[in-house]
Amino acid sequence: MHLFFDLDNTLWDFDLNSYNVLNTLFSDLNLEHKLHVKFDAFFSFYKKKNDELWYLYYKKQIQKSELRYKRFYDSLLHFGSNDLELSKLLSEEYVRISPYSKALKPGAIETLETLSKHHSLHIITNGFKEVQNIKIDNCGLRNYFQEIIISEEHGYTKPHIEIFRLAENRADADKSECVMIGDNWISDIEGAIGAGWKAVFYKMNEKALFAHKNLQEIAHLNELQELF
Ligand SMILES: [Mg+2]
Repeated sequence: MHLFFDLDNTLWDFDLNSYNVLNTLFSDLNLEHKLHVKFDAFFSFYKKKNDELWYLYYKKQIQKSELRYKRFYDSLLHFGSNDLELSKLLSEEYVRISPYSKALKPGAIETLETLSKHHSLHIITNGFKEVQNIKIDNCGLRNYFQEIIISEEHGYTKPHIEIFRLAENRADADKSECVMIGDNWISDIEGAIGAGWKAVFYKMNEKALFAHKNLQEIAHLNELQELF
């Protein structure tokens, strides 16, 4: 089989890494004092805003540069500051530091180690190329994968069918032998099912939104070793 993994929150623990980096920046820049808010409240607003802006980015309604500072600018605004310079500083520092964070999802390396003995492993990620390449190298992930497909390099993002067709070509695989493993219901699961692939929805605390003959669910990466 050809197993295509999503990167953020499927292998690389995006939520945990992002929490830790922003927590450090929040305290270095003395934001609790400036904004009169505790970090956890700031972070939960930021996370919601970040998801909303990524969704607009997928729909090609905003550009990368706008996404990057606006998630911070809108969060600062929400907590009563309209400091554009501060939002740009937060954005630059966050993008500079966070790719070097190393937390992976539980069981990631053991699972890749085992699966790579019997299957071809690949990555399809919607992130930005300079960031995603650092994460992949810095966490020792690169050698497990044959094809690493970063949406920004191709002009297509998941869930658009073009990126799945491109992935089949790159891996020299038929869709009947392709599986997408990811945590995002729309981009990973609906995208893959729509492309005629199998899909594995990986989320600790969420259930699939519909049942489908090509869909399986896991709560821990180790379960992949029993599925494939
Ligand atoms: Mg993801």
